[in-house]
Amino acid sequence: MARVAIVTGGSRGIGASISKALQEAGYHVAANYAGNDAAAEAFTSETGIKTYKWSVADYDACAEGVRKVEAELGPVDVLINNAGITRDAMFHKMTPAQWKEVIDTNLSGVFNMTHPVWGGMRDRKFGRIITISSINGQKGQAGQANYSAAKAGDIGLTRALAQEGARAGITVNVIAPGYIGTEMVRAIDERVLAERIIPQIPVGRLGEPEEIARCAVFLASDDAGFITGSTISANGGQYFT
Ligand code: NDP
Repeated sequence: MARVAIVTGGSRGIGASISKALQEAGYHVAANYAGNDAAAEAFTSETGIKTYKWSVADYDACAEGVRKVEAELGPVDVLINNAGITRDAMFHKMTPAQWKEVIDTNLSGVFNMTHPVWGGMRDRKFGRIITISSINGQKGQAGQANYSAAKAGDIGLTRALAQEGARAGITVNVIAPGYIGTEMVRAIDERVLAERIIPQIPVGRLGEPEEIARCAVFLASDDAGFITGSTISANGGQYFT
């Protein structure tokens, strides 16, 4: 039987690549998104992958969303916590609202999605939780205190859950991408990209969303059963932990 995967933020950017790669690998995929209905509709007509709208920042909406996906596709075997936002500001200018929005989505969102699938995975003795953190959660980034804190928190949460899930056949891992050529990054001024960002990346280019998707498909597979609590850095050599 095909395994069922939920990809949060799964209809655009890195998440869309992960949804498509999992579908190609034979999974039944549910792609969650927050509000961009046009992108979600275009994604479904291109791929046939069903999209589900709720905010990962809302625990009750996540629990209800998981129930709906499970009723339609079956028990969730794989959860990809990919949804994420930025609200950048230097710390002295950062508002409590900018802090809270990013923590609520990028860190609490991982709790909100993982908690409703955890019990079922424990009962069935199989599960894969993969969270997309960031190089900036590993090294910290000026102007992103909120984002760096949330993404570092994702790594701590993963390491704790890896220990709790191990005996129940659940692996819990992080992928920490560097700069990936999604809309978000391509929107950066071309000169800034060419003169300031790409020179920091030893391989001399941005990463492709598909390169993150292939890591996710591997971590979701049976072949990755002995890997848990790990962080895979996919950053072109920009930072080593
Ligand atoms: P995009 O901005 O291209 O896409 C973000 C996706 O997340 C969208 O589908 C969006 O939904 C969804 N989303 C945002 N907020 C919520 C929410 N509250 N509930 C549910 N879905 C939500 O982002 P990227 O593809 O660039 O990034 C994906 C992940 O990778 C993020 O976690 C990001 O932090 C991380 N990352 C990205 C890097 C990069 O260089 N791009 C580098 C390192 C990490 P909608 O379509 O409805 O807006």
